[in-house]
Amino acid sequence: MKPNYTILGIESSCDDTSAAIVQGCVGDARVLSNCVVGQNDLHKAFGGVVPEIAARAHVEKLDVCVESALHEANVHFDNVDAIAVTSGPGLIGGVLSGVMFAKGLASALNKPFVGVNHLAGHALTPRLTHGVEFPYLMLLISGGHCQFLIVKSHDTFVRIGGTIDDAPGEAFDKTARLLGLPQPGGPSIEKAALNGNKDQFSLPRPLLDRKGCDMSFSGLKTAVLRTRDACVDQHGGLTISDQNDLAASFQTAISDVLVEKSKRAMKTYLELSPKEPVLAVAGGVAANSFIRENLISLCDHLGVDFLAPPLSLCTDNGAMIAYAGLELFAAGHMHDMSLAARPRWPLDTTSPSLIGHGKKGAKA
Ligand code: AMP
Ligand code: MG
Repeated sequence: MKPNYTILGIESSCDDTSAAIVQGCVGDARVLSNCVVGQNDLHKAFGGVVPEIAARAHVEKLDVCVESALHEANVHFDNVDAIAVTSGPGLIGGVLSGVMFAKGLASALNKPFVGVNHLAGHALTPRLTHGVEFPYLMLLISGGHCQFLIVKSHDTFVRIGGTIDDAPGEAFDKTARLLGLPQPGGPSIEKAALNGNKDQFSLPRPLLDRKGCDMSFSGLKTAVLRTRDACVDQHGGLTISDQNDLAASFQTAISDVLVEKSKRAMKTYLELSPKEPVLAVAGGVAANSFIRENLISLCDHLGVDFLAPPLSLCTDNGAMIAYAGLELFAAGHMHDMSLAARPRWPLDTTSPSLIGHGKKGAKA
């Protein structure tokens, strides 16, 4: 029988402070609590996440979140086997807040702790929610990340493609700003697109002419800017119907790129002959119903199971960190006080980096 653990997970790498309790064994665990305090209101006026504000807000909310997570799960510190904390990649101030907090807690309680890669947290979520067997294909589409990963084990991730510039969530947010729609941009574009004509404007499908699974979204945003300016010139301002049509055209372009690249990624993945092939999605953009429906159609066509964790476990959360920590802890991993907070930490260090490879190494 596999050993059971109770793990406290802590996440603070971007703009969500979260703590959670996950209990169970590898491949069969339950979320007892998952307390998330978002920061949308704090960053709204700035049109994006302000790292310094984010870090301060994490410091203020970490203890509150941990207390609520324990209370809701009806678990006492005595019963926690280990503390798992996001130790990168992310905004360094936020990651540091979480790591320092976890170190203090582990030291005061004399508990083991383990640093978790935030991306591994997302990538292992299908094991927490559905007990999915390795290997599976993961499409991570969020505000800061975009990659296809073949997840082979709790610590073997093969990246077979990703964005060479903006993440899709970033493109949704920037496009919403160009169209005068509220932040976060994803939900407001999805809403506007419901009343728009997706064929009204012709926008590019970047990198489809290039082999492989890499993607690019920054040119799409520039194309939206040009189209918007043309509309403004023509009508003396952006009409509601222009806004809706552009939102629908943009969303369709993103979806077309994701579907075509997923098709290619699945071809590579299926060469491994997985017994029960699965495409899992994670990240805030996976909340988009239009994109989901198109990915589901693709999976149906290829005989692959489509799996999307519930939204609360798709976006940044402590439960995924607790579960990834459980897998690491069960495999004998533990850290000591020298654990560093890392702004950059690619999951797959063998594949060439996509963006931002500088002196400090690959970004993601
Ligand atoms: P995350 O980075 O995982 O915390 O998710 C936040 C990102 O997801 C932001 O860039 C949002 O605009 C994006 N997002 C949230 N909901 C949607 C949606 N319905 N459609 C597209 N993007 C979305
Ligand atoms: Mg977030």
